[in-house]
Amino acid sequence: MLKLEGVSTFYGNIQALKSVSLTVEEGEIITLIGANGAGKSTTLMSISGIYPPRHGSIVFEGKPIERLAPDEIVKLGVIQVPEGRHIFPGLTVQENLDMGALLRRDRPEIARDLDYVFDLFPILKSRRNQAGGTLSGGEQQMLAISRALMARPRLLLLDEPSLGLAPLIVQQIFEIIKMINRESRTTIFLVEQNANLALKVAHRGYVMETGTITMADTASRLLANEDVRSAYLGV
Ligand code: ATP
Repeated sequence: MLKLEGVSTFYGNIQALKSVSLTVEEGEIITLIGANGAGKSTTLMSISGIYPPRHGSIVFEGKPIERLAPDEIVKLGVIQVPEGRHIFPGLTVQENLDMGALLRRDRPEIARDLDYVFDLFPILKSRRNQAGGTLSGGEQQMLAISRALMARPRLLLLDEPSLGLAPLIVQQIFEIIKMINRESRTTIFLVEQNANLALKVAHRGYVMETGTITMADTASRLLANEDVRSAYLGV
């Protein structure tokens, strides 16, 4: 579904990604794990066109996208949930969700998707008229994921959904990530510092160090790998 080949991305003179190559197959959850500053967020932002690569190619469903503008990439169904949520704080929950469906014209399907996200996160239904900025951190993460789902993603890019949230809420959000993948067959690219949780929900994983992919394997093999365990799982 998605193929990155030799992707190098720079911030001015600083090279954040050094010839990154990876693939995402339709229907799977893949995770990219790595330490602070490894280049995980930059990988997602290169895919979504926010920081396009200087070198290399990104092909989504057979179409090169590395030179497309972010809105054109969104129209293809590649939807990012950014690190730190970035919901619209002054808009209500309902209005935030409406923003997710902004580019769609299929009204009946939008209504169906709204019911679906309210089923996934009933708390959002009861808070639908509350300003997004007054929600708790966990609720804002739920809203950010739901807003992305309202765009009907083919590929959902999730950047650190666990960041700053209580363990119980994180568990709940990861259960729902699995459910979204299973029930709506949405392909998910999950970036996480919480390697343990990420590898437990993912089918395959990549490890990134200072802008380079250093390991690629099934999630279960990475979970059992001694190097991964000592570097990222704290065991
Ligand atoms: P974290 O888990 O802490 O978010 P990350 O793996 O997502 O880290 P990136 O945010 O992709 O890492 O950062 C990769 C490198 O690029 C880091 O050295 C970072 O300082 C640098 N970087 C990121 N964003 C910018 C920017 N806007 N301008 C300059 N350098 C940046």
